[in-house]
Amino acid sequence: MPSIYDTDEKRWQAVQARESAADGSFLYGVVTTGIYCHPSCPSRAALKRNTRFYANRSAAIADGMRPCRRCRSDEPPLLERQRQLVEKACVLISDSEEAVKVDALAMQLGVSRFHLQKLFRQFLQIGPKQYIKSVRAQRAAHILGGDGEVLDGIYEAGYHSSAAYYADGAQRLGMPARVYKRQGEGMHIRYAFATTRFGKIVVAATRIGVCSILFGESQTQLVEDLTARFCKASLVRDRETLQQLVEQVVAGIEDPSLAARLPLDIQGTAFQEKVWSALRDIAPGDTATYAEVAASIGKPEAARAVASACAANPVAVIVPCHRVLGAGSKLAGYRWGVDRKRRLLAHEETH
Ligand SMILES: [Zn+2]
Repeated sequence: MPSIYDTDEKRWQAVQARESAADGSFLYGVVTTGIYCHPSCPSRAALKRNTRFYANRSAAIADGMRPCRRCRSDEPPLLERQRQLVEKACVLISDSEEAVKVDALAMQLGVSRFHLQKLFRQFLQIGPKQYIKSVRAQRAAHILGGDGEVLDGIYEAGYHSSAAYYADGAQRLGMPARVYKRQGEGMHIRYAFATTRFGKIVVAATRIGVCSILFGESQTQLVEDLTARFCKASLVRDRETLQQLVEQVVAGIEDPSLAARLPLDIQGTAFQEKVWSALRDIAPGDTATYAEVAASIGKPEAARAVASACAANPVAVIVPCHRVLGAGSKLAGYRWGVDRKRRLLAHEETH
């Protein structure tokens, strides 16, 4: 990115004005002290003739400068650190299997509750409590999409009573920033329909690979479902381009041993991606319980979160969430109907 601080004179003016907007664009060092700083450093300004400018930390260090303790010039500037803290908080919220408490979150991040609230408002325009609520509502919406097993969905999303869910839903705010991006923002997605022995599907793909396979009763319903998942993407129906890929998908559904060859482009939270990848390790004809999958990714306490991640799986069959069973090997729920899950498993057992 071209900087507006492109001459030493402009940089010098920014240092004199202690412009925090200049932080991150360059660093300055003072030859008499041997210390380098962010432009906004509150320490006493040096003489112009003793000041040198650097594009980055390594340039300052190469020139023999040491970092300033006051503005912590060996770390990203304050605004960047704040942004990273909010980002970290969002990841903790998204990856948590239980409902997150703001106090506990602040403690975990080493800041006060008040400071965390301030930063959330500054970067996301909503407070952490509202953010947590909207992530949970979003998660529930994913889970509720399929079977109509409303209560199971609510339970899996971490709601302990349906009353709490409906109270939340009523005051739900806009999607949080991190979730927004995952709704396909900036993605170009092509899709096409096909019919398999387990029902009608839509196959959606980016240049990289398959990003979604969904079951549905009709093309209209499939498009609605796809649009809901990728409401920020550009979606184009394109049978010609996808013909070969769709054939591969159908073959992979009919013969699970072929499924591993399909290129995928799936995105979720770090936790979801870990679960989805673990699902692909369950061989056709085998099954695992939510608890076993949780243990296999090193989070034995997260069985319920694994169930949520399975329910949010965007790629039916190829990411085999149907091979995961509840405690006592109960079929439990399936995003595309328990009956379909039973048929898929029966098919794989005999294949
Ligand atoms: Zn400094």
